[in-house]
Amino acid sequence: MMGPPNHPAGNRVTDQQSGPGAEMHRLVSELYPICRSITGEGVRETLRILQRQIPLVIHEVPTGTPVFDWTVPKEWNIRDAYIKNARGERLVDFQKCNLHVVSYSVPVRRVMSREELRKHLFSLPDRPDWIPYRTSYYNETWGFCLSQRQLETLTDEEYEVCVDATLADGHLTYGEYLIPGTTTDEVLVSCHVCHPSLCNDNLSGIAVATHLAMHLAGLPSRRFSYRFLFIPGTIGSITWLARNEEQVARIKHGLVITCVGDGGPFTYKKSRRGNAEIDRAVTHVLKTSGKEHVVQDFFPYGYDERQYCSPGFDLPVGCLMRSPHGSFPEYHTSADNLEFVRPQSLDESLQCYQAVVDLLEHNRTYRSLNPKCEPQLGKRGLYTAIGGDKNAAQKQMAMLWVLNLADGSHSLLDIAERAGEHFDIIAQTVRLLIEHGLLAEVPD
Ligand code: ZN
Repeated sequence: MMGPPNHPAGNRVTDQQSGPGAEMHRLVSELYPICRSITGEGVRETLRILQRQIPLVIHEVPTGTPVFDWTVPKEWNIRDAYIKNARGERLVDFQKCNLHVVSYSVPVRRVMSREELRKHLFSLPDRPDWIPYRTSYYNETWGFCLSQRQLETLTDEEYEVCVDATLADGHLTYGEYLIPGTTTDEVLVSCHVCHPSLCNDNLSGIAVATHLAMHLAGLPSRRFSYRFLFIPGTIGSITWLARNEEQVARIKHGLVITCVGDGGPFTYKKSRRGNAEIDRAVTHVLKTSGKEHVVQDFFPYGYDERQYCSPGFDLPVGCLMRSPHGSFPEYHTSADNLEFVRPQSLDESLQCYQAVVDLLEHNRTYRSLNPKCEPQLGKRGLYTAIGGDKNAAQKQMAMLWVLNLADGSHSLLDIAERAGEHFDIIAQTVRLLIEHGLLAEVPD
């Protein structure tokens, strides 16, 4: 709906490149020009584009709807905005970059002095070429964001200022996609869709969530049901929780996806509980990945985990990202662009999420069918089953750990953690022992 902001051509993904990383980057590129906010046509257009890949249900919640201590706000839509000089030249132009307008700006159209205009202008003196991103959702005002260099050229006495926007009763829009599993126990995956042309903070999470949903929908079966939410930050999760309070107990595990396209190491922010299965699952996947990573305790700031982990819900929801918000200079500026997010990083992030989900799906509990002393592995051919493997000693230790801890009360993750072994090795060992009649699954 809006012209794409100016940026260098850089390392764009060509139509010829294939693979999930390139596909996710193309999705980010397609969504990039759209002017999103916490409500309005930009969110609807974004969700309609995602519907081409996943059958999202789009919900519309009317302005004024009470949601706990909050109220669904008026809907904001913007068509155009500019600052013109006396010669009619657009010095600051929303059509070139939607970050130029403070999100939720009220309409304005008049000539004003530079002094008056100056109170409504925001720039980043330390990064003179970057445009900051600003919002004013709950305070009715207007403003423009521009680069410091642009700001310094505004030396005339008067300017014509226009924000052609509407702030009126309407709806809050969000997307939801439930992929059913064999149980109604749910895994919640939530991302925010309320930022305009910002790639890592917003679009990377949308792209990885969409591809994770496609991956899960394509599996022959799933133990858990998966609920994907594409919502405006804060007010969206509050609205969803208010409308679904009766069924949140189904959520057994959850993750907020954000900032997953930059080149930084993975960062996991634990749920408020701190020791939930999701916290242990993500920690295990990161620890056994051999890659640099950071695991943080919960703190009541950040993204929608703040709402999911509020004390009245205290859901087991963490936040798996790469570079956390605020930790990279490009955050909330025009430099969080299509060059800042990389296909390879998106691909690694998707793989990391898939590994976590795979762990949750397979984290079952088993019982040894031969618990009195060790079973004789040799006569069952279990040494030869692993003997030719270059990791034979490792696999044998895994087998001994599983046989010892499979007492009906330790999950596979418990065993993997205790053995200091990769979950996949433990899971493979379990399959082998089941084939040899030594283990039985304990029903959920
Ligand atoms: Zn943000």
